[in-house]
Order: sequence, then C-alpha cells, then structure tokens
Amino acid sequence: MSLHLYLEPKVTLLARSEYLGAPHIKWDTEGTPAEKTVEFSGRLCYLSFGEDAGVEGHTTVKGRTGNRDYLKHILEVRHGSVAEHNAWTFLFEGVSRSLTHELVRHRHLSFSQLSQRYVDESNLAFVVPPEVLDAGLESNEYMLWLTACGQSRDNYRDLLGMLEQRLGAQGVTGTAGKKRARQTARSLLPNSAETKIVVTGNARAWRHFVNLRANENAEREIRRLAVDVADILTEEAPNLFQDFAFVVAPDGFMKVDVGHGSI
Ligand SMILES: Cc1cc2nc3c(=O)[nH]c(=O)nc-3n(C[C@H](O)[C@H](O)[C@H](O)COP(=O)(O)OP(=O)(O)OC[C@H]3O[C@@H](n4cnc5c(N)ncnc54)[C@H](O)[C@@H]3O)c2cc1C
Repeated sequence: MSLHLYLEPKVTLLARSEYLGAPHIKWDTEGTPAEKTVEFSGRLCYLSFGEDAGVEGHTTVKGRTGNRDYLKHILEVRHGSVAEHNAWTFLFEGVSRSLTHELVRHRHLSFSQLSQRYVDESNLAFVVPPEVLDAGLESNEYMLWLTACGQSRDNYRDLLGMLEQRLGAQGVTGTAGKKRARQTARSLLPNSAETKIVVTGNARAWRHFVNLRANENAEREIRRLAVDVADILTEEAPNLFQDFAFVVAPDGFMKVDVGHGSI
C-alpha cells in the first residue's frame, strides 16, 4: 500500500493588493503597499496629509509620524476598519479536511476549495497529524493511523466502482454520474484526507485568524499553518503586523503572541 503523505503544509502567497496612490494628493510615505494603503485610509479620516497636500475643498493638517509609528497608533487605538483596505491570497496545500473545516469558520476570509464531488479522490493524499508524527514513523500510533487511511482509500475506490456501475446501468453517465458517485464515496474518507484551498483575507481578518489559531489553544495542525501565515504577513507588512511576536510556547511549539489582539 503506497500512500502520498504530507508531513507539513505547503503555504504559497498567491496574490497581494497594490497601492497606486492618488496622484492629485501630494502625499507619500514609506512602507509596503498594504501599509501605505492603511496609512492613507487612516489619514483621510482626519485629513492629516500635510498642509499643502492639495485635497480639494479642505485644508489639511500636518501629519506627525512616519508609517511605522502611524500604524502603531492605529493598533493601539484599535482603529481596525482601516486595516481592511488590502488583501492577501494564499494557496494552502497539504492540509487536512479537519483543518479546513476549522478554517472556513472564519467568516471574513474567502475560500475556494478542491471539490470532493467533482474530483476523483482515488489517489488522494493524507496529512499526518502532528501528534502522530511526534510519536514517530515507527510507532504503533503511526502504523494504526496509516493502515486506517489506506483502508479508507481502498474502500473509497471499491464503493466508487460499485456506484459508477449501478448508476451507469441506470443510464446516469457522464459528469452527472461521476458527481453522484464521488459525492457518495467521499463519505468514507477520513478527516486526514488532504485538500487544497485558496484563501483571501484583509489584514484585519488575518490578524484575527492568527490571534485565535497561532497559539496553544488551537489544534496543532491549524496552529502550524497560522504561524506560517503570520511569518509571511510580517514579511509582507512588518509595520502593520509589528506587534506579532514569534515565541516558543511552554508546550515546546511555536506560537504568535499578537500584542494588540484582534482589532
Ligand atoms: C481554540 C478554539 C476552539 C474552538 N472550538 C470550537 C468548538 O468546539 N465548536 C465550534 O463550533 N467552534 C469552535 N471554534 C470555532 C469558533 O467558535 C469560531 O467559529 C472561530 O474561531 C471563528 O472565529 P470568530 O467567531 O471570532 O469569527 P470570525 O468569523 O473569524 O469573525 C471575526 C469577528 O467578526 C465578528 N463577527 C463575525 N460574524 C459575526 C456575526 N454574525 N455577528 C456578530 N459578530 C460577528 C466577531 O467579532 C468575530 O470575532 C473554536 C475556535 C478556537 C480558536
């Protein structure tokens, strides 16, 4: 029995928002595109672009700080809505269906996930749960888990074949027949079944996700993913996520302390 196994998630940053600026307003700042957009949005609220910014119909006041300090203040006063004007899109692969079941509870993120109704899962991969991985690839826990996954895949193939045969005999063929067979056979697949999902969120939504999922309270697999996401976000926007602290938790695994929490 040969199974394709994932030992860790594969996290790819697929897309990010651009900052184009407003050519008719004389203002610029340092920072990454997302950080510039957030600062611009915050400054618009108080027209603090500087005295000669040229905002039509208004006098503007002098801005006192640079991007890092400005965003620090936004975090401190929890002016969270200005952190919504941007988006990062990730591709997550090598994650389990149980992870994505938790992930999709985050209602401010957007999702497109591999369909088990349309896709034939006869050769699906499985994600080794971190706890089982800790036990080691020679352990009884791992062997039990591996055997169960292999059995579920074999059962899936068998049931899929039976369903396709019966539906075919009834004249239900083509996409409709395949979909009906696959959507039923998938009921035999375990939570460890590997899946792929594209997820988009703005800075505020990702902060909340990291705040809830990158720590000891979260399940280990999603926690590991949340730490990876936080790592990429801090590279993407170090000022916007300046309060993220990557530390080893008392349980020996990485976590992210989000200084200002969800905003
Ligand atoms: C450690 C842990 C254990 C968990 N255990 C369970 C469990 O046993 N069973 C279970 O079902 N779930 C469980 N969850 C999931 C949890 O209940 C949430 O569904 C999930 O974390 C999404 O977060 P959120 O509710 O903050 O909402 P998000 O969808 O991420 O929204 C972010 C914020 O937006 C606001 N918001 C969003 N939607 C609404 C709304 N409709 N009305 C008002 N405000 C809104 C809230 O302020 C919310 O915090 C667990 C989560 C964690 C982190």
